[in-house]
Amino acid sequence: MDKIAVFPGSFDPITKGHESVIKRALPLFDKLYIAIGINADKKDFFPIEKRMEWINQVFKDYSTVEVIKYEGLTVDLCKKIKAKYILRGLRTSADFEFERSIGQINKKLFSDIETVFILTAPEHTSLNSSIVRDILKHGGDANQFVPEGIDLSA
Ligand code: ADP
Repeated sequence: MDKIAVFPGSFDPITKGHESVIKRALPLFDKLYIAIGINADKKDFFPIEKRMEWINQVFKDYSTVEVIKYEGLTVDLCKKIKAKYILRGLRTSADFEFERSIGQINKKLFSDIETVFILTAPEHTSLNSSIVRDILKHGGDANQFVPEGIDLSA
C-alpha cells in the first residue's frame, strides 16, 4: 500500500527550513501532500495562490510532491486523501511541546494516523515564516531565507 503523507502548515511564505524538511522526508513516502491550511481567524500575508505557486515552483521536478489547500481539521483531510502520516518539523523544545499535544490529539481523533518528525538542520533552527514576514514588513531583503529561485518582491 502506498505511504501517503501530509505536511500541513501556513507556508506564508515557504522557507529554506520547510524545503529542507520536505526534501529529507521524500524518501520515506510514496506521495507527499504539502497542505496549506486556510484559517479564517489568521490574516494571510501572501495570498494562498501565490504561496501555492512558489511551492509548486520549488518542487516542480519532484513527481511525488503535490500542493493542496484545505479547510478544517488536518485529520479530516488525511482521511479524505487516505494519508496515514502527518509530517512536521522540529526546531526547539518549544516546538516539541506544541507538536506533542497536537500529535497526541490527532491520534485520538484518527487512530490510524502517525505523526512523523524531522529535526531541523542546525542552520535553519532560528528560521520561521514569521521572521521572514517581519523583515519584509520593515523593508528588508529576506530572499536568502527562502528557497532558491523565489523572489519575494515579485
Ligand atoms: P504553522 O502555521 O503550523 O506554524 P508553518 O508553516 O510555520 O506552520 O510550519 C509548518 C511545519 O514546518 C511545522 O511542522 C514547523 O515546525 C515546520 N518548520 C517551520 N520552519 C522550520 C524550520 N526552520 N526548520 C524545520 N521545520 C520547520
